[in-house]
Amino acid sequence: MADNTAKKDRKNQEKKKKTLGLSTKIFIALLLGAVCGVLIHYFMPAGYVRDTVITNGILYVLGNGFIRLMQMLVVPLVFCSLVCGSMAIGDTKTLGKVGIKTILFYLCTTALAICLALGVASLINPGVGMSIAAAEGTSEVATTSINFADTMLNMIPKNIFNSLASGDMLPVIVFAVFVGIMLAQLGNKASTVSNFFSQFNDIMMEMTMAIMKVAPIGVFCLIAKTFAGIGFDAFVPMLKYMGSVMLALALQCFVVYQLLLFGFTRLNPFKFIKKFFPVMAFAFSTSTSNATIPLSIDTLHKKMGVSKQISSFTIPLGATVNMDGTSIMQGVAVIFIAQAYGIALTPSAIMTVILTATIASIGTAGVPSVGLVTLSMVLSSVGLPTEGIALIMGIDRILDMLRTAVNITGDAVCTTVVAKQQGMMDKDVFNAMESKATE
Ligand code: ASP
Repeated sequence: MADNTAKKDRKNQEKKKKTLGLSTKIFIALLLGAVCGVLIHYFMPAGYVRDTVITNGILYVLGNGFIRLMQMLVVPLVFCSLVCGSMAIGDTKTLGKVGIKTILFYLCTTALAICLALGVASLINPGVGMSIAAAEGTSEVATTSINFADTMLNMIPKNIFNSLASGDMLPVIVFAVFVGIMLAQLGNKASTVSNFFSQFNDIMMEMTMAIMKVAPIGVFCLIAKTFAGIGFDAFVPMLKYMGSVMLALALQCFVVYQLLLFGFTRLNPFKFIKKFFPVMAFAFSTSTSNATIPLSIDTLHKKMGVSKQISSFTIPLGATVNMDGTSIMQGVAVIFIAQAYGIALTPSAIMTVILTATIASIGTAGVPSVGLVTLSMVLSSVGLPTEGIALIMGIDRILDMLRTAVNITGDAVCTTVVAKQQGMMDKDVFNAMESKATE
């Protein structure tokens, strides 16, 4: 008898070992996608089958279908989870404390990220030797101006349904937190509405997990399409610029964040990275922080023990205003463009870059390529030619993927730190090796 049970246990364990976890599947999909994309680019003749059927047909539909499935959840999920989060925190004092800590953390890490980017770029000098003459007259690149006063004012929704419909996150966040506080104050009198929000929130979380089951297919298609489109040719002349951005991103993600995490919480950074990897891979393949919100909240809760009361507030806020990876790209791009056009930057210009790139990070929406648009604001602030953006446009797709992964990692580190300090984190869940959560 005992022998039989032991045999069964061993068989079960072997079976478990054989079924790959979601993180592993996503990682394999990433690699396979890149290899297939490169093979398609170099070895398949251009024409109807390659371009219309495979790249812009199957890969495009499956990849973007996956992004849409996640995007579909963002507005209802952010709204409900914020209402539930602020309702659960209840008293406005704690909410205020969490809010101030989070915003300070976000601003400081962004400023740090820009300084790191400026430092790395000044060492590597990516634009030296390009010597391009600044074109006289108007630039071809669309410029944008983000006014600080307007950014603040736009946080208050004029019409919440308009903001919900257009997915305008900041006003949605403000309104949802307000509703949550009121529900907490009303207590039992509004229990039907409170129950509705928490049950709807659970439904959204379940949907997130259901959609994540097809993540490896979505990730494979997105990566394969990207590489099938660009191959390696576009990268070669830009290697120094790309290398500088990548190095600064890696330092921010694996050194700065992990030191902060360890310094503030004493949690194991390696465990953090391992458990958070599927979220990073998701952000990498989709290039959108917004669509990552549901998965990020879920992973932090189920794999790291972070209370949803904290993450449901800090993650949507971070995905909207905290873009450290984007600031890094902008910092390196400023040095690159200044060097390429032979324009020297004074120390006061550098200070202006740090300030405007921090504001640009707040104004950058968590969707693909917006960082490139807000870069024009940073360039204009120090008189650099905005047409310089054209130089880096061709290879921005791949950097967008990387910086989005860093953007959302910054939000997660901040969330973990704040949750730990507020005593709203279950260390045992964080330390557990395996979790049923997303596996
Ligand atoms: N794609 C980035 C994000 O969603 C924004 C950007 O830098 O373009 O976080």
